[in-house]
Order: sequence, then structure tokens, then C-alpha cells
Amino acid sequence: MAKYIFVTGGVVSSLGKGLTSAALGCLLEARGLRVGIQKLDPYINVDPGTMSPYEHGEVYVTDDGAETDLDLGHYERFTNTPLNRLSNFTTGSIYNKVIRREREGGYLGKTVQVVPHITDEIKACVLKMAEQDLDVVITEIGGTVGDIESLPFLEAIRQFGLEQGRDRVMYMHLTLLPYLRAIGEVKTKPTQHSVGKLREIGILPDVLVYRTEVSVEESVRKKISLFCNIPLDAVFEEKDVDHSIYELPLVLQRQGVDDLVLKRLQLSPKKESDLSEWEALVEKIINQNPEDITIAIVGKYIELHDAYKSIYEALDHAGISASAKVRLKKIEAENVEQDGPDLYLKDVDAILVPGGFGSRGIEGMIAAAKYARENDIPYFGICLGLQIAVIEFARNKCRMKDANSTEFVPDCGVPVIGLMAEQEDVTDKGGTMRLGAYPCRITKGTLAYKCYGEEDIRERHRHRWELNNKYLEVLEANGMVPSGINPDSNLVEMVEIPEHPWFLGVQFHPEFKSKPIRPHGVFSSFVQAALSRKLRDKNPGPSDHASKISSENGE
Ligand code: GLN
Repeated sequence: MAKYIFVTGGVVSSLGKGLTSAALGCLLEARGLRVGIQKLDPYINVDPGTMSPYEHGEVYVTDDGAETDLDLGHYERFTNTPLNRLSNFTTGSIYNKVIRREREGGYLGKTVQVVPHITDEIKACVLKMAEQDLDVVITEIGGTVGDIESLPFLEAIRQFGLEQGRDRVMYMHLTLLPYLRAIGEVKTKPTQHSVGKLREIGILPDVLVYRTEVSVEESVRKKISLFCNIPLDAVFEEKDVDHSIYELPLVLQRQGVDDLVLKRLQLSPKKESDLSEWEALVEKIINQNPEDITIAIVGKYIELHDAYKSIYEALDHAGISASAKVRLKKIEAENVEQDGPDLYLKDVDAILVPGGFGSRGIEGMIAAAKYARENDIPYFGICLGLQIAVIEFARNKCRMKDANSTEFVPDCGVPVIGLMAEQEDVTDKGGTMRLGAYPCRITKGTLAYKCYGEEDIRERHRHRWELNNKYLEVLEANGMVPSGINPDSNLVEMVEIPEHPWFLGVQFHPEFKSKPIRPHGVFSSFVQAALSRKLRDKNPGPSDHASKISSENGE
């Protein structure tokens, strides 16, 4: 029978509850336990799929096609836990279910209320997660204690502890100790208030983790323990990490967080903790080669780092494994449109065009793809980035100047990117996309094959538009190769230009599957290509395209 850990946060938002939950999952997996992690989000949207990336950051997609909160990306990067639709629920999704059931007469004439009906539904989401043969379920509660929105979740997890038994359920609370520079002190008062707020609801945290800029003295920990009524050995410090978020599992393990959790939940570890892979990773990060490469990201949600979170992480993972520091040059596509690509792209080692929706900045991205193609700069197009590469190639190489996507110009003369089915009558904007993992068959001998090393792969999708197969012949005749095809639908999933040192477009999102200790092959190859270009520019010598490609792929 599974045990449960609920993670709440107080004082301020953006404390890193997601990271802490993920790191905790990592520690428990390192003890041989099967761990599941889920997030309960207090907003009313049924899922984040309809939110602007500016509001909410990237939408993280699971294999089974759920559009979820970006914290799930942390869960996957830190653990091997199976993520799916049970891993993320929102207030909206829970009310949606309850209201539907009410309409179907599922409540037998009763008055439907927050307690017990909404809280019962919340508890059911947690119990469902545990049905997946897990030893531990970690449930992160989004929002901050004290918010109106998260109250039903907190009430539900309080009831959960009562019903399941206190030895099977524990509560971890994460707070901030603000550091007042003028007096050189950290303050515990907001933490005390936050724990007080939880107690009002009936939750007494078993573990308190405080975030802090500076390491604090034992007397401060003692004060927190005393005032918050939490044993001293259950008060842990999460100081801002020195080098990388991937230090976090080690930081928590050094303080014995896993031992305390195992003891509190009476869980028997299946093995001694082994975090050697994480230790090696952190070692590598610290001793990274000073050689740095600059990768331009030409997109439309550039201002907000979280909007392309998984892409940045995947580049970071690839950089660590290549022993190169990846510097991101984030470029607003509209600026490239206005000022031309040279101004922004002449010094970069590689160009990446990420996913996106709508027509703003599209011509800037097309200009960036053209610049990369014509100047032999490694180009990586992800989802929209593939579509951009195809439009550019069709216009400038195949001489079809009206080539476009019907997303941007619905009645364009040459729709090289089009909708699979006419979906204008569909009003549920959340449900019209190709979502989740689809198979792709890769042609041997291509760059795509070099990246994956296998013919049959599965990657996650989130888009409506597709390459229009009607134009495949002309694209191929001019030197663009469809190197990955969906074997079921015949849709093109990957394109490349063999004449170019490194030019790849993928219709899916490989960034969702990259982990720090297992960097994704496409990102590794891309970063290697950038590094080779940089080194070649430093030490110019004769080379041809073929030898460039093979050296970039470590052959
Ligand atoms: N807007 C494009 C589509 O819907 C690309 C989506 C994306 O990049 N995720 O097909």
C-alpha cells in the first residue's frame, strides 16, 4: 500500500516546490522505491493548454497527451516516475468532473458542496495515482498557503491524513527565510505565520524546508523548530545552490531528508542510497570546460524564461555532457523581422527556432532559418521551427514565393504547411491538437538516425498543423530530406538538409525527454555541431560538409 507525502509552500510563490518535490522523488528512487509525483493546481483552467506562455510558462506534454504544468518537467528530469494524466489536476478539472457528474444525476438529489464533494474528488485524484503500483506518492499543492484558491486542496489533504492514518501520510512545508541585508539577518517570522496558517486548517507539517540566500546558524533552525512545533531533525535548509539546480538532491540527502521520510512513513528502503550519477553530474558542471558556445533562440515568447523551459534545460544537459557552457542568446523574432538577421545572428554558433502559435514574428523566424541555411550555421527547428524551415526552403530554394502555412495565411497559394483535417467547427480549443507520443520511423544514414541511433522512436507532439505531403516531391527534388515519418499516418515528422553541416527540423518536442543524466541525442548532436563550428572558426582549416557532420556526431 502506497504512502503519501504532500508538499505545500508558504510565504511567497515561486519557491521551488516543484524542484523540491522532484528532488525528493529522486532521493526515494535512489533507495529503490517506486515513486509517483503529481501536482494539484489551484487555477480554474481545466488544463494550462489554453494559457498564454507569458502567463504560465511552457505547457509540458506527457506521453499520453496531457497538457500539464511545467513543474512536471522537473519531475521527469529528476526521476524515472511514470507521468501521465493522473499527474496534474487543476481546480477547473476537478469542478468540471463534479459538475458533469451532478448534471448526470450522480449525486442523487443532494446539494453539491465544496466539502465534501469537491474535497472527495481531490482525494480521489490522489488515490488514483497510487493505483499505479507505487510505494510513495508525492503530491505538490500549487499556490501559496493563505491563498483563497488553494483552500479546498488543503482541506482535502487534511482529511486525507485523517482517513488514511497518520503513519501513511506526511506533510512537507516549504517556506522562505528573507534575508535583510541592512542588518545581516534572516527572518523567521513569515515562516512562523505560514505554519500557523496551516495549523489553522488542521495541518501540522512533519517536515519544514526553508529556502534561504545565506546559510543560517543552528540557533535559527532551533527557533524555527520551537516556534513552528516541528522537531529539529525535521527542519532542513535549502540554500540557493552554487552551480546548478541539479545539486538539489545531493543538498537534501546530505542533511538526511530521505532517512527522515523513510522513518516517518515506516518505509523500508530496498537499497543503500546511490546518487553517484548525480555526484558525477555536479562534478562535471563544476569543472565545465571554459569553452562556451552561443546558441540563438529566435522565438516569440523570449521574455519569459519559463516559456521555453524544457528547451533551455535540454540544451544545458547537452552542454554539460559536451563539457561546454551553453550561452543562450534569446532573440525576439519580431526584432529579426525589423532589423534583419545579421545584426543578431552573425556571432552565434547555432540557431534554434522553438515552438509557437500565431503569426507574430513568423517572418523573423523565416529570416533566421534562411540565414542559418545559407551560412552553414547549425539550425534546429522544433515544431513551429520545422514548419518555418520548410516554408523558408520552399520559398527560397524551391522558388515557390507564396509558400506559407495556412495558420498564418489561410488562403495562401502554396500551403506547404496545412491542417490535417478541417477543424473550424471545433470550439473546444483544448482538444483539437495532435497531442502526446506518436511513433516515428527514421531513415538510416541520415542525421536524424545519427542523433537517435535507432529506426523506431516515439516523441511527444503538441500542434495542429503538419507538413503538406503534396509538396514533398518538390522539397526533396531541391535537397530537403524527410528523414522521419510517422509509419501509421505517413506524416513527415523530421526534415533535414544533407548538404548543410547540421540542419534538422522536428515536428515533435524532444526537449520533454531530456534528462541531465541522460541528455537527448538530438540536443547533444546539435550542441556538438555548434561546438565544432566554434572550434573551426577559431582554427580555420580545410574541411568539407561530410567530414563536418561526422566529426560533429562524435564519429
Ligand atoms: N502553431 C503550430 C501548429 O499548431 C506549431 C505548434 C508548436 O510549435 N507547438 O502546428
